[in-house]
Amino acid sequence: MKGVNILLTLSVLGLATFIASAYDPGPLQDFCVAIDDLFSGLNIAGDTTHKVGSNVTNVNVDKIPGLNTLGVSLVRIDFAPYGENPPHTHPRATEILVVVEGQLSVGFVTSNGQDGNRLFTKVLNKGDVFVFPIGLIHFQFNPGKVPAVAFAGLGSQNPGTITIANAVFGSNPAINPEILAKAFQLDQKIVEELQKKFWVAN
Ligand code: MN
Repeated sequence: MKGVNILLTLSVLGLATFIASAYDPGPLQDFCVAIDDLFSGLNIAGDTTHKVGSNVTNVNVDKIPGLNTLGVSLVRIDFAPYGENPPHTHPRATEILVVVEGQLSVGFVTSNGQDGNRLFTKVLNKGDVFVFPIGLIHFQFNPGKVPAVAFAGLGSQNPGTITIANAVFGSNPAINPEILAKAFQLDQKIVEELQKKFWVAN
């Protein structure tokens, strides 16, 4: 198991080195003056009655203007039983997550490489920590019969989120279904069905 952890650590370090050129530049000032900066409410569970069964409460520069230029933000993620935070990426941040209630099955997939897109996955229990490298597709799923809660720090005041299914099948205007049918090796009718669904961010 330790060997796996070392391999994971080395892999993450390797990825971090590889993508370093895409990272946000360092802050140019100590802080950015802002007012009314208190944010409260992270003790309150988000509404998980979405189709995907999760809710992300963001504490980014939109909530705390003083985070501007500081390169950090925070999220609380609530999961209903069997709920998930569906595959997504943050174009501007690495994410470090800790489980504080319940259990989560998490993972991320490497970018296209010689051995394809490799999945790193693990089941996390209360107190366990996992890192999702910047830009990579990742997910969290609650395999338990009880709710789960996680908090995560992100290395940007404005990490951004691209939820893969929403972006691909729920874009506005829609991507030509012929293009998606070929990309996903699906019948065009199935693509059109997917595009009719109501894709909502959690
Ligand atoms: Mn994330």
